[in-house]
Amino acid sequence: MRKKLAAGNWKMNGTTASLAEVDALLAAHPAPKCEILLCPPATLVSAMAARIGEGPIHTGGQDCHAEPSGAHTGDIAAGMLVDAGASHVIVGHSERRQDHHETDADIRAKASAATDAGLVAVICCGESDDQRVAGQTLDVIGTQLAGSIPDTATATNTVVAYEPIWAIGTGKVPTLEQIGEVHDFIRKILIERFGAETGDNISILYGGSVKPGNAAEIFDVANVDGALVGGASLKAADFSGIISALETA
Ligand code: PEP
Repeated sequence: MRKKLAAGNWKMNGTTASLAEVDALLAAHPAPKCEILLCPPATLVSAMAARIGEGPIHTGGQDCHAEPSGAHTGDIAAGMLVDAGASHVIVGHSERRQDHHETDADIRAKASAATDAGLVAVICCGESDDQRVAGQTLDVIGTQLAGSIPDTATATNTVVAYEPIWAIGTGKVPTLEQIGEVHDFIRKILIERFGAETGDNISILYGGSVKPGNAAEIFDVANVDGALVGGASLKAADFSGIISALETA
């Protein structure tokens, strides 16, 4: 059975005061019927994990370095995230691909480092607006996944997130047919590469302007196993609506 996962990416938002949102989420979902993950900025990983304790919300990082330690000012190693209480890490988010010029090879190395350290790697892919208009979406996704997912991926150490860049933070959402087409394609790629046992059980998240109001219909699409949520994960009330939609999907 594939795991259903509602993952929140706080990006560069949040201070200690924001942890009150975690308290509200824990109160709203004491025994969730899906996995819940929050990825705060690195400054809050340790405090968030401590606040959650044995509670049913996982804490994750937003990136990690491919090396376990060394002279990499400002970077964080996967083992450091584990030490801070994280269980997951996002790698290859389009904002990292764009702002930090991360390549598929970089992302593959980061994902390997993450899983070697015991983290679940949430590996992101997604096409730009221009690429979609040019009819290149599936080619782009195929290339990104071939380059970014390590050979050691399993259904327990890897999650894939499809995030069309043009839908992130814009309020624009692909049609359900467009989401379904890409998720079916990703599933096919995963099965071809890793075999049915693994490929069919790696969870595939959709990300890009998911809100409480559109979550249920997105979760009804085949091969959508959850969501990676940016803006709507910052407030417990919004994220809770998305979690509830996934619980009943
Ligand atoms: C994201 O950045 O991963 C994302 C999906 O953002 P938003 O939900 O705000 O579109």
